[in-house]
Amino acid sequence: MSAPPRIPVAAPVLDGRERDYVLECLDTGWISSIGRFIEAFETAFAEACGVRHAVACNNGTTALHLALVALGIGPGDEVIVPSLTYVASANTVTYCGATPVFVDNDPLTFNLDVAALEARVTPRTRAIMPVHLYGQPVDMDGVLEVARRHGLFVLEDAAEAMGARYKGRPAGALGDCAAFSLFGNKIITTGEGGMVTTDDDALAARLRLYRGQGMDPARRYWFPVIGYNYRMTNIAAAIGLAQLERIEAHLAARRRVAAGYDARLAPLRERLITPVTAPFADHVYWMYTIQLANPDRAYRDQVMAALDADGIETRPVFHPLHTLPPYVRSDAPPLPNAELCAARGINLPSHGRLTEADLDRVAASLSRALA
Ligand SMILES: *Cc1c(COP(=O)(O)O)cnc(C)c1O
Repeated sequence: MSAPPRIPVAAPVLDGRERDYVLECLDTGWISSIGRFIEAFETAFAEACGVRHAVACNNGTTALHLALVALGIGPGDEVIVPSLTYVASANTVTYCGATPVFVDNDPLTFNLDVAALEARVTPRTRAIMPVHLYGQPVDMDGVLEVARRHGLFVLEDAAEAMGARYKGRPAGALGDCAAFSLFGNKIITTGEGGMVTTDDDALAARLRLYRGQGMDPARRYWFPVIGYNYRMTNIAAAIGLAQLERIEAHLAARRRVAAGYDARLAPLRERLITPVTAPFADHVYWMYTIQLANPDRAYRDQVMAALDADGIETRPVFHPLHTLPPYVRSDAPPLPNAELCAARGINLPSHGRLTEADLDRVAASLSRALA
């Protein structure tokens, strides 16, 4: 008997009008960063997030950087970032010449611990970057209250959370602005791509200025500032528009997968923790993330190796950024929850193409590995 096919941790679902729209770009010649799909995608994205503006970028990292630049973050400034996140959250702060200041997270939801936030504010703090990790929104009222008290900007890193809601309000509409990633493994994709959303007209104008090399919109080839080329192509936007047309199906597929895992893993509850969702959160399960009861990292790695041997790809939870070489500081406070989650956390295959039989296989393999 041949081995069953490998189950990847992530895979795009391209079952809408992606192909038709991309062919339209090729047939009309609009393959660069001008064309009808850019405008249509930005308009539809802004509407989906319930904001006035969406500015398309060539990836999620440039979207984050562009947002920080447009907010005026620069040398000497500090931005509070959770330690448990993807490295781009902090790197983009560093690109601005500013310093990311790391905050710990809740050990069960993975999201930044609002109670720990205020202690990280200094006279140099300019902004807070809540990251809706793995698709679950942060406790934004708490974040906004600290921001208001200290006059700080709030930039959501919503890279993993398209479609998520906090108290019914969409991710992307919860702070001054938000950045999304549209990489191939995210909730919706353009291949590589990103988006910045905001309700602030002046901020949107700055985002567009800096995205387009800094060229004055009223005076061609006049550059009042040093900008960037962070534009999205019409081809990428064509894929994105087709993805967005089916956003409800993409979200429903992820919720089906999460519910399927919840039911199958319930008998293992002595040995692992399934995702915990806060009462205010509509989670979109970018990653279905379990934590083993045994907090030993070597044990976790053994479990992942056992799943791998059964043809199941998994990912470890992110290394806390305060432990990475560019960001280690001898005088930094310990962030024990970030380290605990990183040691015992596993992202299971989490995407809309998983079948019930795939979920059976993952659950059976985990059950054997934890026996
Ligand atoms: C994916 C991701 C990014 C970066 O997006 P890219 O499109 O890969 O550049 C930033 N922050 C978080 C939390 C992410 O998951």
